[in-house]
Amino acid sequence: MSNVEKKPGACDKTACGACSHAATCPSAHGGVPAADPNAKLKSRLGRIRRKIIVMSGKGGVGKSTVAVNLAMAAMLSGQRVGLLDVDLHGPSVPTMLGLEGQKLVGDDSGFYPVTVGGLSVLSVGFLLKNPDDPVVWRGPVKIGVIRQFIEDVNWGDLDLLVIDVPPGTGDEPLTVCQLIPDLDGAVIVTTPQKVAAVDVRKSVSFCKDLNVPVLGVVENMSGFACPKCGEITPILREGGGKKLADDMHVPFLGSIPIDPMIATSGDEGRAFVEDSGRSPAAGCFREILHNLYQG
Ligand code: ADP
Repeated sequence: MSNVEKKPGACDKTACGACSHAATCPSAHGGVPAADPNAKLKSRLGRIRRKIIVMSGKGGVGKSTVAVNLAMAAMLSGQRVGLLDVDLHGPSVPTMLGLEGQKLVGDDSGFYPVTVGGLSVLSVGFLLKNPDDPVVWRGPVKIGVIRQFIEDVNWGDLDLLVIDVPPGTGDEPLTVCQLIPDLDGAVIVTTPQKVAAVDVRKSVSFCKDLNVPVLGVVENMSGFACPKCGEITPILREGGGKKLADDMHVPFLGSIPIDPMIATSGDEGRAFVEDSGRSPAAGCFREILHNLYQG
């Protein structure tokens, strides 16, 4: 930047290097303070009161089901809610909410989430020509896409943003945690089997390493809810989620039984808590949401 005229009295270093004033010093920028590269991101995030990430150590434990139904339960209770699906390789949110085939629209101010009821939803599924198309992206591309999903999207003013990330501790949850410094925390979903609980310990450690609060553990598929009488019968080893939570000194948010209607609603594109709102299992989702807000 040798051809840049320096302000009188400005620093005469030729390179910003590790200078602690590099971001704001006018010297290297011709007298114009450098724009904050995160300004747009911060401005979008500043309009969202609470942000939670829903994680799991393993796939198939019902993480997306929990994300969808917590978001929908919050929306049905009168909150302004967004649901961001960054499960880039296996987006199931569009299917679970009957939004397959929806496309994103936008204008100069950014893209608009797809809405269902009053819920604002964004998923990589809305960018695919064909839902069967695989997403073949390496880490840096994924990071860029997730950033765009936050800063280039008109989320508006929200009370809650629920973020569904793929299982494990890869690029997607890492990017979300790094891009959203004021993340309220993580909800970790597990099933009662010990092996799944062991796997989920890694998610808890991941959050601790990144200083992301663990809002609590949800034990899904805990017992079987009889479709006729609603009685919940234990069928797998009980209490894995509670034990894991106690062992790791994190809150236990509650359990959800296996209810065939949860799978049916998801397959048919309707949120279970709306579809079967009076069932005991729907009550479990609402209780978990309530416990989440107590934390
Ligand atoms: P993950 O996001 O962890 O991969 P999903 O939320 O996609 O898991 O759930 C996997 C499958 O299990 C889906 O078909 C879903 O409908 C079903 N499912 C999840 N939780 C329950 C439950 N409590 N009772 C019945 N089916 C469930």
